[in-house]
Amino acid sequence: MSAYDTNNIFAKILRGEIPSHRVYEDEATLAFMDVMPQGEGHVLVLPKAPSRNLFDADPATLPALIATVQKIAVAAKNAFDADGVTVFQFNEAPAGQSVFHLHFHVVPRRAGVPLKP
Ligand code: C5P
Repeated sequence: MSAYDTNNIFAKILRGEIPSHRVYEDEATLAFMDVMPQGEGHVLVLPKAPSRNLFDADPATLPALIATVQKIAVAAKNAFDADGVTVFQFNEAPAGQSVFHLHFHVVPRRAGVPLKP
């Protein structure tokens, strides 16, 4: 597995070098709107700690990360009056990862409405 690249796009977002629509932030995590949403209200949640994906993540950073995923899932369900919420996450390119800073996708869902590809 490759090393963490400090110039990946989410590292730049975390440093404020490129813009994002932030919806939540605390000392350990950040959440912002996905620029190419697969559904209305698609949010990305990431740890501030530099990890490429789950394979190299410090387990000590994960409780805060999943707590923010839960906060965002509840808030997004309420904000979009959703019927449910899909949470997904990819590790390495063959598994679908395209930005190499650990992140979770949180997408509010409505009955009968598929995710956009
Ligand atoms: O496939 P992966 O889980 O790595 O997805 C990266 C996500 O980051 C994509 O959903 C893409 O739309 C999103 N993205 C973003 N803002 C950027 C670059 C990518 O929201 N500047």
